[in-house]
Amino acid sequence: MYVGPNHCMKCGKPLDEENGELCFDCEKTRHVYDQGAAVFQYSQGIKQSIYRFKYNGCRDFADWYGEEMYRICQEQLKLWTPQVIIPVPLHVSKERIRGYNQAELIAVELGKRSGIRVDSNILKRSRATTPMKSLNDQQRSENVEKAFIICQNSIKYRKVILVDDIYTTGSTIDACARVLKKAGVDKVYCLSLCVGKGI
Ligand SMILES: [Zn+2]
Repeated sequence: MYVGPNHCMKCGKPLDEENGELCFDCEKTRHVYDQGAAVFQYSQGIKQSIYRFKYNGCRDFADWYGEEMYRICQEQLKLWTPQVIIPVPLHVSKERIRGYNQAELIAVELGKRSGIRVDSNILKRSRATTPMKSLNDQQRSENVEKAFIICQNSIKYRKVILVDDIYTTGSTIDACARVLKKAGVDKVYCLSLCVGKGI
């Protein structure tokens, strides 16, 4: 199921109220990133599809994911005008086991269609984190707080877009945005393939 036009202005989560602006999370949380959007609601069909994409080696699903992300979010991309797409990194040990970073595969497909360059060497995950689904909100933030590092001495980009497969509380995107902004990036946007529903 697609997110549709009725969504949070900050994170892109679908809203129940027709004229609402912010979801419950964004009303109480001050995010570090500037704005985000997502393609699908994280419901049954896409959940299974992403599971196969991540854990059953179905990496060719990225082609369709990238196409849908571009189709749904191209107007947003025109407004944001990002100079580079940065996939949310996996820790190297995890990537070695899986054989690929699922966010990077989606980012590459989005890059092909939008003409925006993709750079996977700017941001790295400095340590393996505990799987997020086993943690509460507070633990999630602590878990990702120091998980990302910048791998270049200077970043030439001022507007970047992060790409990930699933957006939940935004703590991962905020942690990435924090290090990018510290390194001189002005605007950090994010596109996620799926997003959980706002309360
Ligand atoms: Zn929100």
